[in-house]
Amino acid sequence: MSRTPWWDGGVNFACQPDCGACCDQPGGVVFLSRTDIQRLAARAGMEEMAWIRRDCTTSLNGRLVLRSRPSDGICIYLDGDKRCSVYADRPQQCEAFPWWSENLKSMRAWRKIRQTCPGIDAPDALRVEGDVIRLHVARDLESGRGVRLPLPSQET
Ligand code: SF4
Repeated sequence: MSRTPWWDGGVNFACQPDCGACCDQPGGVVFLSRTDIQRLAARAGMEEMAWIRRDCTTSLNGRLVLRSRPSDGICIYLDGDKRCSVYADRPQQCEAFPWWSENLKSMRAWRKIRQTCPGIDAPDALRVEGDVIRLHVARDLESGRGVRLPLPSQET
């Protein structure tokens, strides 16, 4: 029987406006799910393969990842005001932050990520319930498994 995770009773969090600290990381890797590709290509008004050629590259083992700017290694979608230019359609790995399994694996890991994410335990934080956290964890894990070319067909 698996143990109940420490966060099961909920965690206080509210993403802070004008922060962007989690995106403003040189060398960050954003893996994409199949639905991310579909959504971001549609947002760009492009055919999926054309969008992949423009905005993606691959990890060492062939998973599709978002490109970074060659000049500083930051995500191509972070604008000059440190805002995500595709926020409403952002990849589910980004949406799942800070609820990544690597951050939640222990209180120690969580305390470490809290040093970089001012949304955790912020004065305006709301209780995020364990079921919601579980959903984010699952989506982040799905993204981490990644998508490789040729694209698998999209289930709708
Ligand atoms: S670091 Fe935390 S508070 Fe800042 S943008 Fe990212 S999730 Fe929001």
